Amino acid sequence: MIKQILPYKTIGIIGGGQLGRMICLAAKAMGYRVAVLDPSPNCPCGQAADHEITAPYDDMEAIQQLSRLSDIITYEFENIDHRALQYLEEHNYLPQGSRVLDITQHRFKEKSAIRDLGIPTTPFVLIDGPAALEDALKERTLIPGVLKTTTLGYDGKGQVVIRSKDDYQQARELAEKSECILEQWVPFDKEISVIIARGLEGEMSCFPLAENLHRNNILHRTIAPARVNAAQGTSALDYARRIAEALGLIGVMGVEMFVQGDQVLINELAPRPHNSGHYTIDACLTSQFEQHVRAICGLPLGDPALHSPAVMINILGEHLDKDDLSNLDAFLPLLDRGKLHLYGKDQARPGRKMGHLTLLGDIEESLCIIEESPIWGGA
Ligand code: AMP
Repeated sequence: MIKQILPYKTIGIIGGGQLGRMICLAAKAMGYRVAVLDPSPNCPCGQAADHEITAPYDDMEAIQQLSRLSDIITYEFENIDHRALQYLEEHNYLPQGSRVLDITQHRFKEKSAIRDLGIPTTPFVLIDGPAALEDALKERTLIPGVLKTTTLGYDGKGQVVIRSKDDYQQARELAEKSECILEQWVPFDKEISVIIARGLEGEMSCFPLAENLHRNNILHRTIAPARVNAAQGTSALDYARRIAEALGLIGVMGVEMFVQGDQVLINELAPRPHNSGHYTIDACLTSQFEQHVRAICGLPLGDPALHSPAVMINILGEHLDKDDLSNLDAFLPLLDRGKLHLYGKDQARPGRKMGHLTLLGDIEESLCIIEESPIWGGA
């Protein structure tokens, strides 16, 4: 018998940023109650949730309070404090489990798990201190490459691209501070991703493949469906299914990939809703957030079919009027076919994800509209 958590019960979310907020909005639409734990008062999710607990993620009293309020626990990010996780596994219901987090919190474990499945990933080596880095720099097989901390990196933070000797010093500084992996630089043709959902009985469902463009290591724009050929599409979906199965995934996971010729390589896994799946809110029959709630709560998975092609573009701090965040003048011409989502953050710092816009309809037309808009300075 699978354990179903039905509406009117409370879903506890660790992390109250935009992902938590959009999980919350989907859950509320389905009749659930929501409690959230986040260190910042009036966080994006807290504005929509029934209960907001403001405390650090490793505050055990706050974790216990979240547990008392909640019938089930989920999370919006993978770097959850180990003790908190253990407590919640013992005292509450965490259908996603801790194994998938243990692996995806750590780049070396994650890439090793993918390689062990016989699935292509970027060539990599563990750099467990300055000596290992010196060896790798001497050998040069993975140069040009990118040095990434094994834990806690996101949106390009904790990464040094090594193209020439000029970059060695910065790489050495990173390797002295943190355990890292060195990955070969992949001259990819494009980046794609898939959001895969897996339910309590192992049933799986994939959203349409998305094509992603990054700027300064932050996702800039997603196009769905991705413009890939049949072989690339088949490999991508096959890899995502095999990884989800092997990890015992419950809920949704974003699988980021590089496409190089007909080869598809896995870059990174995120066992939660993912920025490249935001287009599903407006363009699919079921959103990634609703699918996540369905999967963890033991409800049937929804139909992920695309009902319109879509281009999703992120709105960062620099894209808003920092003196008046409610000034939408530049966005008004886009709202005809565009769906605007703002996350309720009250400070617009450069690079901070403040919202996103999804343009529905013909992809080329949407790209032209974005290009002509002064907001993103040409997409
Ligand atoms: P990550 O945080 O690992 O997802 O990296 C952020 C972005 O940096 C990726 O989406 C790519 O655009 C780029 N990147 C990361 N690793 C590599 C690599 N090994 N080769 C080429 N580009 C990379």
